Amino acid sequence: MKARVLIAVGLGVPLAVVTAMAIIFALALSAPTYVPDYVVRIALPASTGQIGLPAVQGPADASRPLVVIDAGHGGHDPGASGQHGEKEKMTTLALALALRDALLADGRVRVALTRDGDRFLALEERSGIAQRLRADLFVSIHADASESSEATGATIYTLSDRGSDAVADAVATRENRSDTVNGVDLSGKSDAVTAILVTLAQREMRERSKSFASLVLREGQEAMRFHTDPEREAAFVVLKSLDLPSVLIEAGYISSPDDARALGNPAWRKGFAESVASAIEIYLARTTVPSAIP
Ligand SMILES: [Zn+2]
Repeated sequence: MKARVLIAVGLGVPLAVVTAMAIIFALALSAPTYVPDYVVRIALPASTGQIGLPAVQGPADASRPLVVIDAGHGGHDPGASGQHGEKEKMTTLALALALRDALLADGRVRVALTRDGDRFLALEERSGIAQRLRADLFVSIHADASESSEATGATIYTLSDRGSDAVADAVATRENRSDTVNGVDLSGKSDAVTAILVTLAQREMRERSKSFASLVLREGQEAMRFHTDPEREAAFVVLKSLDLPSVLIEAGYISSPDDARALGNPAWRKGFAESVASAIEIYLARTTVPSAIP
């Protein structure tokens, strides 16, 4: 052992590292063979690699429009945190559940949640759930954070142009063109045609998403407090679906003591939920059942 240590030191490995390795090696050799008392078996996801779909709640009538509500973060990803230890992942879950309850109480639309507990989901899985359920609308809920405790109020995000271009490029150059965009089969189409179809689909989804964002702003005027610049665009991954309108609502700043107090208050959350539910119902009535325009 002494010779090995000397050779290793000569090669430039710190003496402490070599000593620690020697001790671990000696312990491993002297330890009795370990026989486990029990075996933990973990169910692996199906070979498709897709996670299971959540339950669809609300009216049994499958022709009713479906909204997928996504509580941001979760599990090992806590999101932002407040000055008194508030965690964004718990705030977003409470808001998502309140919104689900408000929609179910009205009974006009069907609802599914990407998560209803404290669990982690990858970004693509969130919008993927909405796409696989063939949802009519995707609403992701978050709480903002800023270095400045002055920053307050809710912001509604739709996908930016820049993000859209990157998606268009990625989809257009994808080798497998078996996707369909707005019902148009892209298989066998050239790169140029694919890029045009994707761009058109994105333009339409951006417009639809923005009209829903405006409704959230209109319906929330009394119950919510908005940021001074409340309608914004960003390249959020969860907003990149080509076939369903998607918005991300930052319900307030968890970093602001005033906003954090509101976000933690069940009565405030109920007001938030009712106003967003109202925007969802109006939007879906307009876009999915033309004869039912209020
Ligand atoms: Zn967030």
